[in-house]
Order: sequence, then C-alpha cells, then structure tokens
Amino acid sequence: MAEKVVILGAGESGVGAALLAVKQGYEVWVSDAGSIADRYRQELQAANIPFEEHTHSYDKIFEADWIIKSPGIAEAAPVMQAVRSKSKRVISEIEWAYRFCNQATIIAITGTNGKTTTTALIHYLLKNSGIQAACVGNIGNSFARQVATSLEPCYVVEVSSFQLDDIETFHPHIAVLLNITEDHLDRYGSMEAYAAAKFRITENQTAEDYFIYCLDDPYTRKFFKKNIRSQLLPFSIMEQVKQGAYMQDQQIHIRINDDECILSADELSLRGKHNIYNSMAAGIAGKTMNIRNEKIRESLATFKGIEHRLENVATVRGVEFINDSKATNVNSVWYALECMKKPVILIMGGIDKGNDYEIIRGLVKEKVKAIVCLGKDNRKINEAFKDDVQLMVNTTSMKEAVEAAFHFASPGDVVLLSPGCASFDLFKNYEDRGRQFKQAVKDL
Ligand code: ADP
Repeated sequence: MAEKVVILGAGESGVGAALLAVKQGYEVWVSDAGSIADRYRQELQAANIPFEEHTHSYDKIFEADWIIKSPGIAEAAPVMQAVRSKSKRVISEIEWAYRFCNQATIIAITGTNGKTTTTALIHYLLKNSGIQAACVGNIGNSFARQVATSLEPCYVVEVSSFQLDDIETFHPHIAVLLNITEDHLDRYGSMEAYAAAKFRITENQTAEDYFIYCLDDPYTRKFFKKNIRSQLLPFSIMEQVKQGAYMQDQQIHIRINDDECILSADELSLRGKHNIYNSMAAGIAGKTMNIRNEKIRESLATFKGIEHRLENVATVRGVEFINDSKATNVNSVWYALECMKKPVILIMGGIDKGNDYEIIRGLVKEKVKAIVCLGKDNRKINEAFKDDVQLMVNTTSMKEAVEAAFHFASPGDVVLLSPGCASFDLFKNYEDRGRQFKQAVKDL
C-alpha cells in the first residue's frame, strides 16, 4: 500500500509538493485552513488530488506517514501543536523536493534581504556560461514543482528560514547566507533562534562543499555556527579576505585559491551597496562552479535585474522613473536612497509595520526634494519628515501620485517609488503596486 503524504497549506510550495508526491506514487491529501487560490484549486482538481479548505481535519492529518508543511504555517499554529503532540514527522517542501532531485548540484541562497536578487543573478551567471540550471523559489516555480516537472542537473534555490526549519537531509553544495537582520521575530522569539534557523543551510554540508557568507554582517558574525564542515568563503567591503571576495579602491576581487577575478564596482549592473554584496556572493558562487573570470565579469555587468527592485522604468522629459515597490520596510528605502545620484522625488507610504523613519532622515535631508505620500493613512510620514522636506503631498491612487511626482520634478531628477510600507491598503500586493506605477508612468 502506498505511503500517505499530507500537505499542510496549498500555495506554490504545497501544490508543488503535492504534484511531486503523486508523481512518486504516494497517496496524497492536502489541507489548508484558509481558502485556496483558484489556480491552485484547479490544479489540484486536474491532478485528482483530494483536498480540504477552510479547516484542518486532524483525524486525517494524523493518518499521514509524511507531513509536509508549507512555510507560511507557524510552529505556534494549533495544527502544528496537534501534529507535534502526536510526534508526527514533519518536513518542509525543499526537503521533500531534495529527496527526488536525483543528486543534482544544489546552490541554495538564504538571508533576510537579497535572496531573490542573488538567486536570479547566480542563475543568470550559470546560464550565461552554458551551465543548465533551474531557478526555483520565490520567482517562478517552487523547488518541488520544478522537480515534478523536469529534472535538472543543477538547481539554484531561494530558501527562507521557514523552509530551513524542517529540513533533514537537504544538502546544498554551495550555500549562501547573505545577511541576518531583525525580521520574523514573532515566529522565532529571538535573534539567536532566527540566526540558528538560517545557519541550518550548512547542516548537511561536507568538506567538498562551500559556505559563502557576509563578513561585514554583525549578526552573522555574532551567531556564527560552530563546526561548519564546508569551505568558508566570506565576502566583505570592509576587510581583505584570502578566499572569497573583498573590495579595495573600488575594485572587487573574487578569489579562490590563487585565481582571482577582478572588476570595478562601477562595472556592476546592479546599483547600490547592497548589490555589491549580492554581486560578490554570486561571483564567488560562479568561481566555485569553475566559471571563467571573463564570464563572471561579463555576467555581473550585464544582469538586467528583476522587476520591482530598483527597476529602471523609463525616462520622461529628462525625469528618470525607478520602481522599487518591493521595498516594504525602511531598511530597503535606505539602500535605495543611498545609491541615488540625482535629486529624488520619493513616493512612499502604505501600511506601516512599525517603521522607525529616523534611520533614513539623514539621506532624506541630503537627497530628497519632495515626498509624495501614497497611502490611506500618511500621518506618520507627514510627521516624520515635516521639517526635512519642503514639498510633501498626500495621495491615494498611483495615478495621482505619479502625476504629483512628475509635477515636482525637473529634468535631471529621479522619481523613486520606494514605499517602505506594505501595499495592502490600496493594492493587492507589491507587484500590483509596481505594475500600476509602471502603467501610470507610461500614461504620462
Ligand atoms: P528577498 O528575496 O530576500 O526579499 P530581494 O532580492 O527581493 O530580497 O530584495 C528586496 C529588497 O531588499 C531590495 O529592494 C533591497 O532594498 C534589499 N536588499 C537586497 N539585497 C540586500 C542586501 N544584500 N543587504 C541588505 N538589503 C538588501
């Protein structure tokens, strides 16, 4: 009789895991306490996979031989407590996918910020060098869906700490930890626990593998895991390193053994200090894959970037428009402003998640000509910057915001959408916000 797999949560990870389980001959059942998005419901129906929504039937869940948990389900959720009380075996979707990926090379990227960018950049680097690889995680397919659809020789996998929480054998040959900053403390309780979850990316590595990490990141240093078996390849803007990557006089050195790839920071296609880090991490990953220095340079210089992350939209009558809709916290706005070279008209606002605007005040004073607030409730932003910028206006639609920003701008200025807030007051999600921005710019 086939073993039973129960999947908790029916989003991209859960449905991917279900499709893979069916393909592998398991008896599968999916349970989601919320409502399942139409396209996923249709997919489950088309594959004849039974499911329930708006509830969890514990009796059926307890029958499982394997429970696969979606990353969105917190350990504190009643269903998890019930499952743990029965000592049921729980794994994450990446663990499940890994078990069927046919010993492919795995490059896994984690960190609080920069995962999607670095995953896409590494994938581009591989593709550009003729290495066949699939890019999985937040952009495109979940790892499990990809493995169910087609087996690849190499997977570049974006992994969150929630995915790492329930791994057993998941073994990246190249693991990247970009940074650790305050986030998800509601689920982990402490920075130490959150950092420990991130370091689990190294847990099954061996001496043949590589661990790439940021030496400048305070929490990575503070909570650095003992007994990591893989080869350590740090990257830093502040210190010179023997192996890994560093920057000196605006030159980036990426070095493994005695072989070095050198390029100027100005050559990088992605802007901003944070992207120097992401590019260094990707460059090191490329070197561990034996990609030629020339190809690494070329790829880091020609990567187009990804939608909604400091994305160049258009220049209209001398005014540049940049879409950074993915910036949903103040930290991201800091990085965006830090790399702006022209006077900025900043469109910001939305749902404030407890923002402390103090950290961007210096940059706002120095670079921002006008703030266009875009949100249902802009009081906090109005209050925070009333003494720092002379021009400030409140708007409640993207069209209105873009028109106001264009009105304030002169040729040579840049209009930057970097909201620092969640989007749900006026938009479906940050992608919707970014797309409406691009449409409004087109309509000018
Ligand atoms: P993630 O997938 O981890 O959410 P993204 O690549 O989508 O990260 O980038 C989201 C935002 O995080 C970017 O718009 C940028 O503001 C910020 N960011 C990106 N890379 C880094 C980094 N290495 N360090 C700090 N912040 C970063």
